[in-house]
Amino acid sequence: MKRNLLLTPGPSKVPVELCEVLGKPIIHHRTPQFQQILKEVFANLKTLIGTSSDVYLLASSGTGAMEAAVGNLINPGDKAITVEYGKFGERWTELVKAYKATPIVLKVAWGRAVTVEEIKKVLADNPDAKAVFLTQCETSTAVTPDLASIGAFMKTTHAALVVDAVSALGTEPIRMDDWGVDVYCSGSHKGLMLPPGVGIVAASAKAIAMISASTNVRFYFDLRKARKALADTDTPFTPAIGIVIALNEAVKMLMADGIDKKQAYYLKMAQAVWAAAEAIGLSVYAQPAFRSRALTAIMIPEALDPKKLVKIMRDTHGITFAGGQGELDGKVVRIAHMGAVDEYDILTGLSCLEKVLKQAGHKFELGASLAAAQKVFNS
Ligand SMILES: *Cc1c(COP(=O)(O)O)cnc(C)c1O
Repeated sequence: MKRNLLLTPGPSKVPVELCEVLGKPIIHHRTPQFQQILKEVFANLKTLIGTSSDVYLLASSGTGAMEAAVGNLINPGDKAITVEYGKFGERWTELVKAYKATPIVLKVAWGRAVTVEEIKKVLADNPDAKAVFLTQCETSTAVTPDLASIGAFMKTTHAALVVDAVSALGTEPIRMDDWGVDVYCSGSHKGLMLPPGVGIVAASAKAIAMISASTNVRFYFDLRKARKALADTDTPFTPAIGIVIALNEAVKMLMADGIDKKQAYYLKMAQAVWAAAEAIGLSVYAQPAFRSRALTAIMIPEALDPKKLVKIMRDTHGITFAGGQGELDGKVVRIAHMGAVDEYDILTGLSCLEKVLKQAGHKFELGASLAAAQKVFNS
């Protein structure tokens, strides 16, 4: 029987409990049964995100949620700050350009995330910028910024703080209202451990005011329509019904023993992977102060051909890691520790990585990464 273990940062592993929910016959969305589910899922997502404001559900991948944020906040000709420390930060810049606004691009060296000092400076230089777009977990480099400090500063400005949390939600801590995040975008297929199909946008009061004041052209992703529907516990168009039903269960599962505990477990898995990499003579790409708990990018010497390692792991052994993107193409392998991934999945992934590294001629003691990871898991 062929194994298919997804240790990729989206889509991520879907647990059996949720496969069972996803396998049920569809129900109609204009029914009291579905409305009850919507009511619960909105409430549960608000708790998970840490907001008492609006949460909207879109039928889209994560980029749809990002596009909704840009299209609803920014008018043509507006200035917006986009922060780039990886491939997904670059997507904010492309979106702002697509909407005929002017991106002020703050480039941060790959391997770390932006600091509050850098945000302060770029806003001081561009006081007319309407929003700052950044990434909570930059999936291409596996870094995360100190969002609480950045949000605390952004609260004192007129500009909105818009966060791509597509790979962060569920795994990285977030207290949207306390921290001062204005728009929080995510999707169903990463930390929320489901197939792709639901985009999530949470909007603060400050963001809602900007959304209603904006004159930009919008239709499917018009968040004014989503807000109006939300008041009736509804969505403006047909939602991704099956995934929304499973999303309600997924969020409940994540929060069952307390989300803090779950997120501490993700951090432990991350620390186990960092120790494992070092134990076999490899290094973690992200700088220690900025490492994400959702995934790790491990540097692989080019001579060992990381792309080929990923291919053999997937095609021969049924264990999928991700390769590198952009600048890191052909330089790293990425392993996710988000959603439904647990310590035994990590150990399985590491043992397979050891096997293919050994075959590629890398010198290390077999089992060393497993021992290092086990030490962290048992500490
Ligand atoms: C996966 C991801 C996205 C969105 O990708 P989709 O393919 O549209 O779901 C955006 N940002 C980050 C950080 C991601 O990891």
